[in-house]
Amino acid sequence: MSDNVWKDQIRRTIRKVEDLDAFIELNERERAAIRAAEREFKWQLTPYYASIMDPSDRGCPVRLQAVPQAVELDTLDVAILDPLREEDHNPAPNLIRVYPDRVAWTVSNTCPVLCRHCLRKRMVGRESFAFSEAARDAALGYIASSPAIRDVLITGGDPLMHSDEFIDDLLTRLRSIKHVEIVRIGSRTPCTMPHRITPELCRVLKKHHPLWFNTQFNHPNELTPEAEEACARLADAGIPLGNQSVLLRGINDDVDTMKRLVQGLVRMRVRPYYIYQAQTLTGTAHFITPIERGLDIIRGLRGHTSGLAVPVYLLDTPYGKIPMHPETIVKRDDDAVYLKAWNGKVWREPNPKSGWQGVGAD
Ligand SMILES: *Cc1c(COP(=O)(O)O)cnc(C)c1O
Repeated sequence: MSDNVWKDQIRRTIRKVEDLDAFIELNERERAAIRAAEREFKWQLTPYYASIMDPSDRGCPVRLQAVPQAVELDTLDVAILDPLREEDHNPAPNLIRVYPDRVAWTVSNTCPVLCRHCLRKRMVGRESFAFSEAARDAALGYIASSPAIRDVLITGGDPLMHSDEFIDDLLTRLRSIKHVEIVRIGSRTPCTMPHRITPELCRVLKKHHPLWFNTQFNHPNELTPEAEEACARLADAGIPLGNQSVLLRGINDDVDTMKRLVQGLVRMRVRPYYIYQAQTLTGTAHFITPIERGLDIIRGLRGHTSGLAVPVYLLDTPYGKIPMHPETIVKRDDDAVYLKAWNGKVWREPNPKSGWQGVGAD
């Protein structure tokens, strides 16, 4: 497989309601909803991702992740655009440092599929977030002058929107910094555009070991033969694979779906790493579940399937990621949970026991 296949997917990216007609059935109300939602939030998806949707099921778990719904507009008043306050943690452009020993580096401002639940809805697709050579050099300079940083997570957007040459060059520059022990790539392409994982890309990546790769599958319907092949290529290149799911209401918020997902991932040599609580963010509130739902799912997995298949359920906050075990919840009232972070700080997360004011209720 060559670059032609994924570049063709990019060229044929779907951004217009009419282009969805080849894949799914939409009634007039749904068309109007997409046109209304797109005035607030960008959307796009690959023909591949559209092709794995159930054409006639409006609750299709793949469709719900990629096709805008009117309900996104119900939460414009939940005016949180940057729930992790990443902009307060930028020691250099595009670089986010919350922890002492590792940083996240957002090297791309777009993705093959703009997920409806995206936590960086505020910046994906925006020019102001574009990655420049100057930004690259500033980030590399910061990392080079910070010996405590031993782990660099390359993310985005999706870093694999860049060419193999770009990625090779970036990794080479990063690898010239002696104290950077490991590099991680965070990319959803194995799920949304598996053709991106070409043999050539794998040859580039394996030059820069130890290199780890985290991806995002949220539903067993995404575990297609193409996705399996992409993951096998990466695993065969000696790259350990992890998966970071998002807990999404109406998509994967039940034990049976999650169990099928995590067991399928382990079969594909992908270790379920995290399940994120959906973020409180403008335009995504309809996906949020009460935190108790996630805890129930973990209880339904642990012991019922192998430990290898059980991820850590967590909330990402400006204080860092907080695993949600019943013990880390120091207090619960009707509207919020109080969670103890790794650094001892207590974070208050708005999380109505009854869900978000019925937002998105059927
Ligand atoms: C998620 C994240 C990391 C990596 O965290 P791990 O728990 O080690 O996977 C590092 N920096 C930032 C800013 C992050 O959000």
